[in-house]
Amino acid sequence: MNDIKVAVLGSEGVGKSALIVRFLTRRFIGEYASSSECIYRKHMSIDGRQLNLELYDPCSQPCEGKSTLNDQIHWADGFVVIYDISDRSSFLTAKAIVHLIRELHLGGSKRDTDSVIFLVGNKQDLCHMREVDREEGQKLASERRCQFYELSAAEHYQEVLLMFSKIVRNASLG
Ligand code: GDP
Repeated sequence: MNDIKVAVLGSEGVGKSALIVRFLTRRFIGEYASSSECIYRKHMSIDGRQLNLELYDPCSQPCEGKSTLNDQIHWADGFVVIYDISDRSSFLTAKAIVHLIRELHLGGSKRDTDSVIFLVGNKQDLCHMREVDREEGQKLASERRCQFYELSAAEHYQEVLLMFSKIVRNASLG
């Protein structure tokens, strides 16, 4: 059975835990108390193939030898890089992370990363407080050859499910 490792990255507060918990449980949890446990495991069947998914959420505690962003990038087969559309600084952080993934991941022995980096603008329900235009997200994604999503962990369960299913499928094809 294939083991697929996906790292969920981005600034604190962008909704990494909320998106993961939404994907795994269907529920939106308003305040999620991160524990030191930050690898979530799920057994999945995709296109008839059985997969063991490991989702990494970099909580504040260093976890299983992946305390730096570099460690997390080397560990993962796929990446979901999240920013909050109502927080410009989180977009700049996402930009830097995507840049680093391209440098480190492509520089290593792993295959081309075009289909395994997803850039996700979360909290679309807060569009009245928007600080990052959708077009900016799309432009960054196309410059860095990422797939782009704008969605809301709070309101868009189907999109969250689709996005995670797709990154797992793409990462598993490597
Ligand atoms: P993390 O630090 O990236 O793991 O962020 P959290 O998952 O802990 O979320 C930080 C805050 O943003 C929490 O109060 C969440 O309830 C909230 N949040 C997460 N996703 C959304 C969303 O899609 N919409 C709104 N309005 N709030 C969200």
